Amino acid sequence: MEISFKGKRAVVTGAGKGIGRATALALAQYGAKVTAITRTQSDLDSLVEECPSIVPVCFDLGEWEATEAALKDIGPIDLLVNNAACAKLQPFLDVTPDQFDQSFTVNVKAVLHMSQLVARGMIGRQSGGSIVNVSSQASQCALKNHTVYCATKAALDMLTKVMALELGPHQIRVNSVNPTVVMTEMGRRGWSNPETVKTMTSRIPLGRFAEVDEVVNTILFLLSDKSTMTNGVSLPVDGGFLAC
Ligand code: NAP
Repeated sequence: MEISFKGKRAVVTGAGKGIGRATALALAQYGAKVTAITRTQSDLDSLVEECPSIVPVCFDLGEWEATEAALKDIGPIDLLVNNAACAKLQPFLDVTPDQFDQSFTVNVKAVLHMSQLVARGMIGRQSGGSIVNVSSQASQCALKNHTVYCATKAALDMLTKVMALELGPHQIRVNSVNPTVVMTEMGRRGWSNPETVKTMTSRIPLGRFAEVDEVVNTILFLLSDKSTMTNGVSLPVDGGFLAC
């Protein structure tokens, strides 16, 4: 099965590191014209050094007006990957209001806003399109110290479904990928303790965490014309964790 994004214009958020960076590189490799969004300029500099065809855009997705301004200049988009998120871990009783607000702003509100802006363009051009939201296994399974993160990802799964419902008639498909732990910078922050790692991997039937490429390949599939009837799903990339 061959996937090509030749002639497609893609935007990836959180493209400075981890899964977002690898997704931007893969999309470019398969022929898409990629715009990479993140908030750390040095990450964009090294990304463009690695792949000069990628267009870098630096802003904080938590800023509503900055997002509007940036999207105005990006031009028409066919494919959107809402990947950026934050994961600050706190036990339930210690959750602070600012942590709650920050997490929901980036993990949910920014996805809604980016998708509104991109979908309006797709509808205006009657081009259709595909949007993939990067969720988590944490949307469907309670994890200790992940109160706010779990809640944002559960909200993201439902946002995905409602977007699929309302944008489907415009031939815009919206799906999420729901990975288990991946040892990116974010993954390492939450899963540095060998005991916790052992407990988690013992609950994954395949007995290991996911690799970045395994998540990227699933994102590419959902963006591509190999999944033209798939709309509104939350697709686990979790080695079977959510099946148990
Ligand atoms: P990562 O290594 O922390 O990378 C996240 C990227 O998003 C960084 O480039 C970060 O920029 C950017 N970002 C964060 N907040 C932003 C904001 N407000 N504005 C602009 N850019 C922002 O994370 P990752 O592990 O690749 O995670 C990517 C996605 O996968 C997330 O949605 C995450 O929830 C999901 N996921 C991850 C795991 C895991 O174990 N890693 C598991 C399941 C799901 P800065 O570095 O400059 O902040």
